Amino acid sequence: MHFVFRIQKNCHHTRARAGIFHTPHGKIHTPTFISCGTKATVKAMTPEELKNLGAEIILANTYHLMLRPGADLIAKMGGLHQWMHWDRPLLTDSGGFQVFSLADRRKILQNGVEFRSHLDGTKHFLTPEKAIRIQEKLGADIIMCFDECAPGDSDKKYTREAMIRTHQWAKICKKTHENHCHPEPVEGYNEKHIVQKFPQALFPIIQGGIFSDLRIESTKFMADLDFPGIAIGGLSVGESKEDMYHVLEIIEPHLPKQKLHYLMGVGNPEDIVEAVARGVDMFDCVLPTRYARHGAFFAENERKHIKNACYIKDKQPLVKNCACYSCQNYTRSYLRHLCMENEILGSRLLSIHNLHFLLELMRTIRKQIEKGTFEHFYRQFPWRIKKNSKKK
Ligand SMILES: [Zn+2]
Repeated sequence: MHFVFRIQKNCHHTRARAGIFHTPHGKIHTPTFISCGTKATVKAMTPEELKNLGAEIILANTYHLMLRPGADLIAKMGGLHQWMHWDRPLLTDSGGFQVFSLADRRKILQNGVEFRSHLDGTKHFLTPEKAIRIQEKLGADIIMCFDECAPGDSDKKYTREAMIRTHQWAKICKKTHENHCHPEPVEGYNEKHIVQKFPQALFPIIQGGIFSDLRIESTKFMADLDFPGIAIGGLSVGESKEDMYHVLEIIEPHLPKQKLHYLMGVGNPEDIVEAVARGVDMFDCVLPTRYARHGAFFAENERKHIKNACYIKDKQPLVKNCACYSCQNYTRSYLRHLCMENEILGSRLLSIHNLHFLLELMRTIRKQIEKGTFEHFYRQFPWRIKKNSKKK
């Protein structure tokens, strides 16, 4: 077994769990956060810096890489790990999410999606089989089934159709993956036959919008297919937070307990804590680095903006007692200046802080679960309290 998930501790009051997911490129301690390296780089960060922050897994986007520079080139360069100099676990998405968000540039057919590239308008056809083949070439540890994420405002009829397509595609992805899977590491690369250097774990994606019966149906369907982990997609796409938490709550009893649960595209601290309490083990989101490039940073209980005039003469770090490199060495005043002048260093220093903040949050959550004090931590979590008090 190349991919094993072991749960070490369950919270007795919530559905939170602490575990370890073993992969050919090392262990992932859960709950965990995946930093997003959309175009095979976590923007402005070196792999060494990510490791220093404690990142155990990062993600790259299939859609962007298949268009440029192309999966064949990356395979020839030794696969994503070698090419981008990252020797820890890696995950690639299926490309589906970006293709479906192209709206007027794509046409959905029963066997795949026809679309025009956002780069140069060239025509492409992505199918479940192709999505797997491309991800095999990229060579990440965890790869994803091709799915259709229906827009957040879709009606039930359309959401159901997209869900059924996603189910059929998951079966095709599984079959394609099993036919091409080489369980043992193989040295070298043969251009005619892409040979996997390392085994890969394929995860399916639960869909169904905000409709309880569809979500439960989708969860049961994917659980029955018996993959090494299971992802929850189509959330954080415009629905209310209450709807998102409700979906997580109702599907939890139907998720396979011994498998890794991955909530896609969620990275707000209060959402992470709420989702962990509902049994989620893994998250990914572009927010920490995207916020950083726009001058936003995670503070004690909310997101703040460094470009705000109140920081002009502020000698404090971004967050008091934060152990990150940026907070240890720079004042808000200086960081504000860098961001106002669009200096690259400003984005870098805020990215370091934001990634540290989320990775440290995950480590704290894990410790709280291990100690048996997660429920108290969850109830008192400042971001959550702030959000709830704003609502009233
Ligand atoms: Zn910091």
